[in-house]
Amino acid sequence: MDRSERLTETIYRNARRVGIHEIAPIEISELEFEDWVRDFCHNGCRNYNKTWACPPATGSLEDCRERCSQFSRMLLFDRCYKLNGSFDSLGIQNAMIDFRRTVDRFDELISPILSSSLFLGNEGCDRCNECTWPDAPCRFPNKLHHTIEGYGFNIAKIARKAGLHYNGGQNTVTFFGALLYDE
Ligand code: SF4
Repeated sequence: MDRSERLTETIYRNARRVGIHEIAPIEISELEFEDWVRDFCHNGCRNYNKTWACPPATGSLEDCRERCSQFSRMLLFDRCYKLNGSFDSLGIQNAMIDFRRTVDRFDELISPILSSSLFLGNEGCDRCNECTWPDAPCRFPNKLHHTIEGYGFNIAKIARKAGLHYNGGQNTVTFFGALLYDE
C-alpha cells in the first residue's frame, strides 16, 4: 500500500468512526459551480446572509472555484438519519445539528494529518449564540465549515457522480459534506 492509499484508508476509517455512512472521491476538475444553486440559497434558505458559513460570506462562485482548485483530492461524504414520519421537523433539525458535529469531529481527527484541507458542511453555523457576520471576523475561523450548497454544487448531481445515495428512502434525511485536501 503506498502513502496515498494509506492516507485514504485512514480518512475512510475515521469517517466511519465519526458516523459517516458513505464517502467517495470526486474529481475536482469535474465540479460545476452553478448559479441556480446560489439563487436558491438567496431566495429559499433562511441561513442566507446570516453567518460566515453561507453566501454571500463564502464569496463569489469564482472565489469558490479558485479555493477548490488549490486542492488535489476531494471526498464527498454523507450521513443518513431516520425520521419519525414525513413531518418530523424536530427530527430534521436534530439531524442537521448532529451532522454539523459529525463534520466537526471528522475535521478534528483528520486535519492534523493533512498538510492542507478544506471541509464543507451543511446549512449555516451554530457555534456561537450570535454570529459576528458581517460586522467582525469569524470567532473561530479554523473551525469554520462553509456550506456545501453555498459553493453552487448541485448535491444530487455530485452524489450521483460519486456513487452516493442522495435519498436514503422514506422517512429519512441525508446530509452531505466534503473534504478537499492535498496528499
Ligand atoms: S463560528 Fe461563530 S462567528 Fe464564525 S460563522 Fe460560526 S457562528 Fe459565526
